[in-house]
Amino acid sequence: MAKVRDVIETIEKWAPSPLAESWDNVGLITGDPESNVKSIIVALDVTEETIAIALKNKASIIVSHHPPILKPLKNLTGNDLSSRVIQMAVKENISLYASHTNLDQAPHGVSHALAEKLKLTDITPLSPGNCELLKFITFSPPEHTDKIREAAGHAGAGVIGKYSLCSFTSRGTGTYIPSGDASPYEGETDKLSKVTEDRLEMIVPAPCISKVLEETRKVHPYEEMAYDIIPLFTKEPTFGYGAIGNLQEPMELSHFAEHVSRTLNVKTLNVSKGGKKHIKLVAVMGGNGRDYISRSISAGADAFVTGDLCHHDFMEHYSSTVLIDASHRATELPVLHKIKELLHYLPSMKGIKIIIDWGTTAHFLYESYTENI
Ligand SMILES: [Zn+2]
Repeated sequence: MAKVRDVIETIEKWAPSPLAESWDNVGLITGDPESNVKSIIVALDVTEETIAIALKNKASIIVSHHPPILKPLKNLTGNDLSSRVIQMAVKENISLYASHTNLDQAPHGVSHALAEKLKLTDITPLSPGNCELLKFITFSPPEHTDKIREAAGHAGAGVIGKYSLCSFTSRGTGTYIPSGDASPYEGETDKLSKVTEDRLEMIVPAPCISKVLEETRKVHPYEEMAYDIIPLFTKEPTFGYGAIGNLQEPMELSHFAEHVSRTLNVKTLNVSKGGKKHIKLVAVMGGNGRDYISRSISAGADAFVTGDLCHHDFMEHYSSTVLIDASHRATELPVLHKIKELLHYLPSMKGIKIIIDWGTTAHFLYESYTENI
């Protein structure tokens, strides 16, 4: 039976935790990685309703985009939403796992999902290359190569676009002389050993390298793990914030606004006039995209679709680009399908129910968008 650990490892291969911003709080927030999983809840936020859905469906893990604890909690008295859901999750043995700014930057992450939902093509990150790439190379007896590859992969190595566990292995001869106090895997003290070794190479996003070293050391048989870390000139083009792509056919602004409204099920949008009548190249950012307006303009986008724009953003940029505020929530919801898909196709998840909690807009007196997309 699949365990909480399997769910976490699957998501980590796609969106490694070390990619997250330093102020963020991602990963396993509470729970036991060894718990069995009967069903999984995928949600944007963890609320009391989310916990109730988890209980109803006997779910042992909730995977959320927004971390249930972002600022440090000073107490667990239940006076705020964070402490209430943590109390409930601990009491009911439900694991809470969050994938936030790491999922924003991961290939096919939050903004890519939004871009696909809006039917953009040729999608690339709006702000690529935040993530430097390294080449991790280690040398080991051939019978240990698979385990080491697995361990490095779980720590974030070997992800290239839609592919995980990408590696190259070549075989050769390694030499060494063990000193008097060494405990070699094979070979004799003070004698030159010539042994058959595999050279395993994998690409690693720079923020993941410490974790890769830590995890591979656990399964590497050598007393001194031999490895190289080589900085690459290339940066991972599929990692980055935001997304940009083309509409298949140019649309008049009013038609494009209707398209966004209909596709994301947002009843009301804030739309600026912009400088162009027809929209073809579109930049998007799921959630709060205020800091990426200039990036969208410099990338030549005809329109920028995001959430959390304020009065001053529209005042400053209304004549230079089309800004569309489709709300924080609605621009992030499409990624929930992606998480579900990822887990659904895993052989170990066979027979496990994966339920999306679309959340609620009940905290608004007037809803501007509906529950489901
Ligand atoms: Zn968000």
